[in-house]
Amino acid sequence: MRRVYLDCAATTPMRDEVLEAMSPYFKVRFGNPSSIHSFGQEAKGAIEEAREKVAALVGGRGEEIVFTSSGTEADNFAIKGTVYASKRNDNHIITSSIEHHAVLESCHFLEKRGTSVTYLPVDRYGLVDPEDVRAAITEKTVLISIMHASNEVGTIEPIAEIGKIARERGIPLHTDAVQTAGHIPVNVDELGVDLLSLSAHKLYGPKGMGALYIRKGTRLVSFMHGGEQERRRRASTENVPGIVGFGKAAELSQSELSKEAQRLTSLRTKLIEGLFERIDRLILNGHPTKRLPNNVNVSIEFVEGESILLNLDLENIAVSTGSACSSSSLEPSHVLLALCLPHELAHGSLRFTMGLYTIEEDIDRVLEALPPIVARLRAMSPLLRQSGI
Ligand SMILES: *Cc1c(COP(=O)(O)O)cnc(C)c1O
Repeated sequence: MRRVYLDCAATTPMRDEVLEAMSPYFKVRFGNPSSIHSFGQEAKGAIEEAREKVAALVGGRGEEIVFTSSGTEADNFAIKGTVYASKRNDNHIITSSIEHHAVLESCHFLEKRGTSVTYLPVDRYGLVDPEDVRAAITEKTVLISIMHASNEVGTIEPIAEIGKIARERGIPLHTDAVQTAGHIPVNVDELGVDLLSLSAHKLYGPKGMGALYIRKGTRLVSFMHGGEQERRRRASTENVPGIVGFGKAAELSQSELSKEAQRLTSLRTKLIEGLFERIDRLILNGHPTKRLPNNVNVSIEFVEGESILLNLDLENIAVSTGSACSSSSLEPSHVLLALCLPHELAHGSLRFTMGLYTIEEDIDRVLEALPPIVARLRAMSPLLRQSGI
């Protein structure tokens, strides 16, 4: 039976073309890009070509892209690098309560060392209000960091509006675009951002590969010191195959972006409508329309997300949940709690994230498999019995 993978927000498989493009750079074209001989120059050329492709994906220029080891590193670099570059020692960051842990934990780290941080709330759809950003700005604010779209509930944030406010006040704006680049249009000028994080494995590229877009003139302190790679912004011998793969993945996803977004949006509609037809006491988490084309996040009352996840897994369907056990802590996802979802509903959340290899039949499989699982689990649910429904 076909294994159905609906967890593309966690990672995506590499495209064949990406693997093919990378392959020569492991053995045949193995040169160190810092070497002056032809082996080195071949590798260097490949890196610069990939840099242009990644820059093009977000509407930036090649020299504004720094390759990193991951989206996590790009987020760390943007946030810590900006704070370290600031001349103040009483600085302030504005972020949101629904960011990825790479952003939140970087902020927590700085908070322990004297930076003050404002974690803006979101509305029930997961939207940050740009006016809240404006109101939070103080003379100490050195950075605003708001994600482009949520990896959990799929809500797309009003970054362009926040960008205007940041510009007016002369404060650098960072956005984590790991879930949007290659999936919906991303343009650093239209968004008005100075720093933007990317990750290759979320767009059918290799794992362990990311990039930070740094607008020319943005002050940032590096935290990898050594050689002069990446214009001295990140030392260490480049991951040449990874960079080449990232470039190829960026190029391909850009060329198919609008067609693929349209296809996924119709699969998304089919899944949402199908779930509401078949399962009662269900709610959609995230915004109904300002939403990633590939994301469906629902809470099912009176069931535990991880029980459903495991039952679906037995039927060869892979999804994710914001419920507690999956996060190895007792708390449900910070994002669902920030939407003010009651704990019971946060525990009953399920996230389906589709991708390039998702077909209509996969959605049919979910719509067939899920209702009987929910019915079975609800029949055993003490929560349902207590509620007296
Ligand atoms: C996956 C993800 C990251 C982390 O990227 P890695 O390359 O896996 O470190 C950061 N932010 C968001 C929104 C993500 O979805």
